[in-house]
Amino acid sequence: MINMTNRYDRQLKIKQIGTVGQKRLENSHVLAIGVGGLGSFVSSELVKAGIGEITLLDFDDVELTNLHRQNLYIESDVGINKLVAIRKHLQEANSNVKINIINKKYSSDILSKEYDLVIDCTDNFPVKYQINEDCQKEGIKHIFGTCAANQGQVMFIDKDSACLECLYPKEDVAQLGLSKNIGTNPMIVAITGSLQASMALKYLTAPKKVNAGTLIVVDNWNFDFRKIQVKKEKIALEVNK
Ligand SMILES: [Zn+2]
Repeated sequence: MINMTNRYDRQLKIKQIGTVGQKRLENSHVLAIGVGGLGSFVSSELVKAGIGEITLLDFDDVELTNLHRQNLYIESDVGINKLVAIRKHLQEANSNVKINIINKKYSSDILSKEYDLVIDCTDNFPVKYQINEDCQKEGIKHIFGTCAANQGQVMFIDKDSACLECLYPKEDVAQLGLSKNIGTNPMIVAITGSLQASMALKYLTAPKKVNAGTLIVVDNWNFDFRKIQVKKEKIALEVNK
């Protein structure tokens, strides 16, 4: 048995985390929706940091074109179910974490109060809106994340903050491209996924300190980093109810 104190020694020394925060993290259960690029980083970072339990949802197999940005997968995983491959890699990284897999497309019935936090790691906007709407309805906090080309965006959302519909009205997003068509800089995936994992770590270890409704925008070609406070749109909220 690995000595827990030693294993997490460096993060325990962060004064904002400490043993109290680490204990909270070990008692937390997160749902990560999608284990592509963002989900690879989010899950590996949270598992290595010692989250208690993580549930992963996906339905795809690993493809060769995934390997440049979906960092947990290796050549021998190509053609294998992503969840089977990722669970093996994650469990090898930290055997203390309980890892559950759900091999299906996202649907509203998957959400439940047993999750302390939901992390949206999908690359599909209709699904993102559904996750946003369901989390708002159920009062479950979630972390939106998206990236394409050289830009990434991340926002922590709770029922009192601006949500995805406040940020981008649904009709404006119809013309947004998928990474398949516009390409993805592999490093923006790492940055965006790490920002989602960082927000999750902060919320799970120090829940009162998170700024919900603040959009983080990063560009890893021009090296811009912006923080934007998004206004909550009351009308959108009424529609969501
Ligand atoms: Zn909203």
